[in-house]
Amino acid sequence: MCSLYLHPTTFTLLGSYRLLPMSVAATSPAVGSFCLPRFPRHTPRFRMAVRSSAISVGPLLTKLKHDCATPLPVLRHVADAMAADMRSGLEIDGGSDLKMILSYIDSLPTGNEKGLFYALDLGGTNFRVLRVHLGGKEDGVIATEFEQVSIPQDLMFGTSEELFDFIASGLGKFAEREGGKFSMQSGRKREIGFTFSFPVRQTSIASGILIKWTKGFAVSGTAGRDVVACLNEAMERQGLEMQVSALVNDAVGTLAGARYWDDDVMVAVILGTGTNACYIERMDAIPKLQSHVSSSGRTIINTEWGAFSKGLPLTVFDRDMDAATINPGEQIFEKTISGMYLGEIVRRVLLKMAEEGALFGDSSPEKLSTPFLLRTPDVCAMQQDDSDDLKVVGSILHDSASVESNVSARKIVVEVCDTIVKRGGRLAGAGIVGILQKMEEDSKGLVFGKRTVVAMDGGLYEHYPQYRRYLQDAVTELLGSELSKNVVIEHSKDGSGIGAALLAAANSMYGHDL
Ligand code: ADP
Ligand code: MG
Repeated sequence: MCSLYLHPTTFTLLGSYRLLPMSVAATSPAVGSFCLPRFPRHTPRFRMAVRSSAISVGPLLTKLKHDCATPLPVLRHVADAMAADMRSGLEIDGGSDLKMILSYIDSLPTGNEKGLFYALDLGGTNFRVLRVHLGGKEDGVIATEFEQVSIPQDLMFGTSEELFDFIASGLGKFAEREGGKFSMQSGRKREIGFTFSFPVRQTSIASGILIKWTKGFAVSGTAGRDVVACLNEAMERQGLEMQVSALVNDAVGTLAGARYWDDDVMVAVILGTGTNACYIERMDAIPKLQSHVSSSGRTIINTEWGAFSKGLPLTVFDRDMDAATINPGEQIFEKTISGMYLGEIVRRVLLKMAEEGALFGDSSPEKLSTPFLLRTPDVCAMQQDDSDDLKVVGSILHDSASVESNVSARKIVVEVCDTIVKRGGRLAGAGIVGILQKMEEDSKGLVFGKRTVVAMDGGLYEHYPQYRRYLQDAVTELLGSELSKNVVIEHSKDGSGIGAALLAAANSMYGHDL
């Protein structure tokens, strides 16, 4: 469809922002660097006197593996329950854990979109700003530029004004660097597709009420308010000549962006700090729909599947972690499969093994008691360690938790990481099959009978090869080798940013006469 795709033309980090301390959902902007081992300069890394611990930890590891197991019947149950919950959520608002939110997007990008558009993406760890120059059918995406900024932790617990002012200010600085490359017709504001990755009750294409914060955010004064109004007000305070033309959930943005390149995309899934999924639904399959009509007869439904909770193999570590979160009892699927939580579950298991099974010998596990000390990128880096003595594992344990470990303890640590990540990836795969199953039941053969693409995005999916493999394995196991040939699970890098910009273009307040 497009003749030229420059992607991205620049990647800069706004230097003036503080990096987060290592804690809840914290990543620095240089996401990829987490897989590198970190060696302290003057500290001896391992004390070889650490006594062997494998035997005393064995029963704990066996029980963990048993409690986290996801054999085919468990996966099937999860997929069936996901499909059933989707139906109940489409029947009536509040009918299930899954909110099944209408996106108000019923025309997907056509390729005719033209002009300069911005996208703003507020995830859980970072916010990103993106500028895309669209050239219509002939020229496609002419250029994209983006910047990424980590969200300072104090803003996650501050006021709505503080958070939105920070976002508007980052956007303003990025817009200043447009550098006269594009001239806007006079009197026109620059238009933004605003990707907001928290549960929102959408009220129109460019408005939506925040239902609640998730992923560790506890910003006061936003719940119950229109998040577009919050951003527009902040942009006015900063004197920005910009306006939101489309409010887009991140999964919805990914679907729209991926569909621009490939007509077979029917589902999009985010696996980053949190998780969510959306898909293309027929209007006549949405009983709770009252007035909204779509010219295409189809719309995108945002499932908010992070709230799913049925049939999940949970452990005491999951329950304890949930009880300590700011939203206990909520977002259970998210807490089992997404990036914010995997490291924390592993930390809880290791702490128990250290306290009850002397996993780290005489080494004090005191620091391991700090919540969210171990982050999912650490878990990922430990699993990539293929050295004989697992030295990356040793140094991560030393650097982050101040514990000494011998090789047998490190092997157990890797097994714990693998157990938690395997469960997460396989359950995510079962969730995807649940969505496809629901779609197939309503339109026999139109999903499994032809090529169907599931567009994936998010830092966890992107950077964690074992997670990706476990997810794919579960899909293949559930569908069988024949049907699974038709289901393509594909990474759609930065699809959500471009998707949001495309949706801003498709819903431009100036029509399509650019
Ligand atoms: P957001 O969810 O905030 O929009 P991302 O999609 O970039 O942002 O996802 C960031 C999350 O991805 C991090 O919180 C972390 O859990 C996970 N992640 C980032 N890098 C890695 C990595 N190297 N390995 C595993 N997980 C990672
Ligand atoms: Mg995101």
